[in-house]
Amino acid sequence: MTEITCKLLVIGAGPGGYVCAIRAGQLGLDTVIVEAGKLGGTCLNVGCIPSKAMIHVAEEYEKAAHAAAGRTPFGLTAGAPTLDFAKSVAWKDGIVGRLNNGVAGLLRKAKVKIVQGRARFRDGKTVVVETETGPKVIRAERIVIATGSGPVELPFLPFGGAVISSTEALSLSQVPQRLAVVGGGYIGLELGIAFAKLGSKVTIVEAKGRILPLYDAELTAPVAKRLTALGVEVLLGAKARGIAPAGDALLVETADGQERRIAADRILVTVGRAPATEGLGLEELVLDMDGRFIRINDRCETSMRGVHAIGDVTGEPMLAHRAMAQGEMVAEIAAGLPRAWDKRAIPAVCFTDPEIVSVGLSPEEARRNGQEIRIGQFPFAANGRAMTRDGEQGFVRIVAQAQNGLVLGIQAVGSGISELSTAFGLALEMGATLEDVAGTIHAHPTQGEGFQEAALKAFGHAIHI
Ligand code: FAD
Ligand code: NAD
Repeated sequence: MTEITCKLLVIGAGPGGYVCAIRAGQLGLDTVIVEAGKLGGTCLNVGCIPSKAMIHVAEEYEKAAHAAAGRTPFGLTAGAPTLDFAKSVAWKDGIVGRLNNGVAGLLRKAKVKIVQGRARFRDGKTVVVETETGPKVIRAERIVIATGSGPVELPFLPFGGAVISSTEALSLSQVPQRLAVVGGGYIGLELGIAFAKLGSKVTIVEAKGRILPLYDAELTAPVAKRLTALGVEVLLGAKARGIAPAGDALLVETADGQERRIAADRILVTVGRAPATEGLGLEELVLDMDGRFIRINDRCETSMRGVHAIGDVTGEPMLAHRAMAQGEMVAEIAAGLPRAWDKRAIPAVCFTDPEIVSVGLSPEEARRNGQEIRIGQFPFAANGRAMTRDGEQGFVRIVAQAQNGLVLGIQAVGSGISELSTAFGLALEMGATLEDVAGTIHAHPTQGEGFQEAALKAFGHAIHI
């Protein structure tokens, strides 16, 4: 059995793991990363990147179909579009492939050793990896668990045949005519909307009383309206019960207790993700858990000395940028730097139509924390840039402390506003006040001006409304 010793061993090369390994390499730590699948993890291979590629294809197709129907208000008409879906999927795969190679190159540049295979703990300092050339034992002073997550399976709707997870949904050979989606959260809505734009008849079944229940109702209302316009049927308070014996329909119990049969070629189950800990040999360690997730402190240390955990395996929010930030921090801790998790906010973006951005506290959350707040909200209907982009729906909202204007949270919903998450995150991280935002010159004409106007509105003197 081959043996490797190193300073830092990272298990899993998703955004958490590969960022950790690159940063450790930059700091001169002798680092090994083990990956069972492809470099880049869920995010790069079957998550963030491929889903955004397919969302882009769907948006472009829908725009062309809209023009073909003569529905643009600015006089554009075009012939009916056709889509070579196999080519769309190949384009998406090409992007993923380029990024896979990019990650490999960055790891090599940082002098990180890549071991391909599945790692299993032998003890807190040693793992065994089954590689193509036989088992390898890796001993490390410090180990980082960055094994990520996988889709939750419903026992009465096991994956296989017509029942698919987001992974299969991103590599279909054709657009399903009828798509039933179980779960109206992040993935269900992002992909449900994309398939509706590509021509599928989409039905979304959500157990709670509204879509995207993690955001407030005001923020999700424009998305609900768009779903209706796209012809997507949304069943709220409804429970999936199983698949019809012929495999051609989803069986649902509706909010009023009725049985409903939803004819479907594909049933996409998106009811959350579970930590990937199976087969990792966690039973060889003594780790405190937080439900099924690994419990960590503000240095991403587990209850076992020398073992860290980062990313989805540590629970919500399961977002790539959180995993990356944790990875970078742990690498610096391993190099002896004085680091701890001191982030004020982790932005969340939902790539629906329109897009949703949220950073920090919503009005409801701030009030629940006992804060006295002041809110400024500005509609994109009064924003020149939004009008010129034919995307007037939505708004920007700032939540601030009443007495000193300290910004506590910023939310927005609108067409193409995901890029505003950068400004919002920066404002929160730097402890901006309403005065700071209102006093910053925002370029004209941009949708970002809505942010400044929302701050002015909180003072009662927005200019453009
Ligand atoms: P992962 O990316 O899951 O990587 C873990 C890696 O560990 C995998 O490559 C796996 O093969 C490997 N591994 C597991 N066990 C072992 C083992 N025993 N030995 C060796 N290797 C192992 N987040 C966003 O922020 N923005 C988005 O737009 C977004 N879109 C998404 C869309 C979809 C469809 C999905 C499914 C997720 C999306 N996410 C998004 C979530 C995001 O992908 C995750 O939060 C992120 O990938 C978590 O990173 P990670 O490093 O913790 O784990
Ligand atoms: P989610 O938690 O966002 O949504 C799951 C939804 O399914 C919830 O609304 C829940 O009420 C519903 N649900 C649960 N059980 C159900 C049942 N039996 N029947 C009907 N509905 C049911 O989970 P997801 O969409 O699977 O995404 C998983 C994670 O991936 C997210 O939490 C997020 O962290 C990450 N993600 C992020 C992005 C992004 O940042 N843009 C995109 C995709 C995924």
